[in-house]
Amino acid sequence: MEKIKMKTPLVEMDGDEMTRVLWREIKSILLEPFIELNTKYYDLGLLNRDITNDEVTKEAALAIKKYGVGVKCATITPNKDRVKEYNLKEMYKSPNGTIRAILDGTVFRAPIITKVVEAYIKTWKKPITIARHAYGDIYKDVEMKVSKGKCELLFTDENGNEERKLIHNFDGDGVVLGMHNLNNSIESFARSSFNYALDTKQDLWFSSKDTISKLYDHTFKDIFNDIFEKEYKEKFEKENIEYFYTLIDDAVARVIKSEGGMIWACKNYDGDVMSDMIATAFGSLAMMTSVLVSPDGNFEYEAAHGTVQRHYYKHLKGEETSTNSVATIFAWTGALRKRGELDSNKELINFSNSLEDAVIETIEKGFMTKDLALISNFENIKVRNSFEFLEDVKNTLLDKIL
Ligand code: NAP
Ligand code: MG
Repeated sequence: MEKIKMKTPLVEMDGDEMTRVLWREIKSILLEPFIELNTKYYDLGLLNRDITNDEVTKEAALAIKKYGVGVKCATITPNKDRVKEYNLKEMYKSPNGTIRAILDGTVFRAPIITKVVEAYIKTWKKPITIARHAYGDIYKDVEMKVSKGKCELLFTDENGNEERKLIHNFDGDGVVLGMHNLNNSIESFARSSFNYALDTKQDLWFSSKDTISKLYDHTFKDIFNDIFEKEYKEKFEKENIEYFYTLIDDAVARVIKSEGGMIWACKNYDGDVMSDMIATAFGSLAMMTSVLVSPDGNFEYEAAHGTVQRHYYKHLKGEETSTNSVATIFAWTGALRKRGELDSNKELINFSNSLEDAVIETIEKGFMTKDLALISNFENIKVRNSFEFLEDVKNTLLDKIL
């Protein structure tokens, strides 16, 4: 069989621990036998980030800007323990944070659905994608404990003019917080969400609490609305998809009663909470994909989970592991399909689709890793170790494409 050729490279970012082990195996078992992989390789493993003073992360992000598509392995975000464990020069920032800051995007998370794991919500038939705004609000807030006294909001403009608003006259102890957002950032959140809806041909919902937060949340609502009316309305009509805004309470109720199959754009905090709810309700974090979409159309694909440290330490001791590689495989297929779309490379698109189908079929034949076996009611389950599962998928794939 002749290998599929790639016209343009995609950016490959290697990572850490168990997912780094799986990365190598996914490439050698499921990709390299079929594709002449053309990647720009960046090693974002913690050791190399330390050697390069984290320059490698910035270089990788700039490369995504250049080539338009990237695929990333999970990486360690160092804390105190990791600084000691790896003898690091400093406590480097989260690579995802660095990449996000350079690409300025929105993160979309969607579950991978199979018949062996039923969603807790019976009506959900299709994936629900959460688009989470990844800037500001309580994640960049300023907080204070206060006592009896007056708390005010004070803004000084660049000419020194002041605007004041009373927050509260405190009779006793209390707490306050100040938070902000930027119109620029909300605009790119909106455009990324509209583009992703067009790209995946799904309806887009956006929710906030504008009835209570009449200036803050209302600004989000207005920006989404303006951009939709000016730039996207016609494109949405053409694709026969819908945009609508509703209050977050109403959105929650509607999502629960829905069939799924939509994108739900959420403010930062709502997205944080709701994406965990969606992941759990659909089954497992190990089956959650994640893609960062920048407003100017760059895409970075990854699994939503981390480096699965506990399994890695078992692996290092020579013990058998049963780590789920599905979200990491889908990160690759997502990136390869996007590369194929941008380069009009039909073979690459077809391969990506076939590989995803092969993964689902393998699981639906009963071959799965332990995490899925534990939550499945399926009758005929064969629990596979990390590497057996990849071989199973390869066999299904060969049956499909030969
Ligand atoms: P984690 O790697 O997501 O794993 C947490 C637990 O979830 C695992 O111990 C395992 O449970 C289960 N799990 C997650 N993915 C799985 C998979 N593919 N297959 C089977 N089970 C899976 O989170 P963590 O242990 O909190 O974090 C480890 C490292 O990952 C940290 O250094 C963190 O900084 C990093 N991290 C990176 C990213 C990223 O790069 N995007 C995201 C999150 C975390 P059991 O142990 O019960 O089997
Ligand atoms: Mg969360």
